[in-house]
Amino acid sequence: MSDSNQFKLAGVMGMPIVQSRSPILHNYWIQKYNIRGAYGHFPVQVDNVEAAVRGLSALGIAGCNITQPHKVMAMKLMDQLSPLAQRVGAINCIVVQPDGSLHGFNNDGFGYIQSLKDANPNWRADTGPIVILGAGGAARAVVISLLDEGARDIRLINRTRAKADELALAAAAPAVVKTYAWDERDAALEGAAMLINTTNQGMYGQPPLDIKLDALPTSAMVSDLIYIPLETPLLAAARARGNVTVNGLGMLLNQAIPAFEAWFGVKPEVTEELRQAVLATF
Ligand code: NAP
Repeated sequence: MSDSNQFKLAGVMGMPIVQSRSPILHNYWIQKYNIRGAYGHFPVQVDNVEAAVRGLSALGIAGCNITQPHKVMAMKLMDQLSPLAQRVGAINCIVVQPDGSLHGFNNDGFGYIQSLKDANPNWRADTGPIVILGAGGAARAVVISLLDEGARDIRLINRTRAKADELALAAAAPAVVKTYAWDERDAALEGAAMLINTTNQGMYGQPPLDIKLDALPTSAMVSDLIYIPLETPLLAAARARGNVTVNGLGMLLNQAIPAFEAWFGVKPEVTEELRQAVLATF
């Protein structure tokens, strides 16, 4: 029998997982909203994903986030998928239903779009060409959510072009999503309203993204999904030439809103205090 005062547990499943800031933000909200619950790290090896996911319901866990490298594998274990997760082809959130069944969601795109709107409330997806670098898991959520926001011209460029072609096909909007070769990336910035880096280049421990911004209008917004460091070499270069920049922290914070609400029954707020609490751990 469900009990509204029951202690609720959730967490984030991945490998490695100690670097994830999700426990900081969910436990901040748990305290703030006086919820009886806790959120932790679930370090799970690839071979154990099925047992761990199936164990959620048996252990009475409310649900969990799923991060790399389990986002696609975990999706296949769901009893039901949200239409968006189905289109993205990966999940980042599981909600255990009262009957024990597992529902999979992908909230990355929601978090991403909200982070752009937080940075500029007048932001729109249809104001001009959007150049997206990368075609991995994060890019899939970004492309689908930009399409849903009304993007009309997406230039998708990945080091391995076949993966960009595959993503463009899955996006099922051939008039909007066009792919280009990796060595066309500098020229593709001509006339763009937005540049988005979804590769891991520029992340802590990785070399900077190799791109020349000369052709990019200074009116373009430049967004990087990376949040460690908060300002990647790409964002620093863009800021120095006058572009508005958005880092990946807002995406991380905002994708947590629907998950927290589904597990704990309260729609939480992303505030400056929360942002500072997470930043203090960097
Ligand atoms: P992924 O699936 O492993 O994709 C990695 C992407 O980076 C691929 O497109 C890959 O191209 C590209 N890449 C790797 N090395 C490269 C190089 N030397 N030159 C050019 N491109 C290279 O990873 P993901 O899950 O999509 O994550 C991508 C980034 O987004 C990571 O930095 C991650 O931290 C960030 N992210 C942030 C959030 C957030 O909440 N802010 C959420 C999810 C992800 P190939 O296909 O050619 O290998």
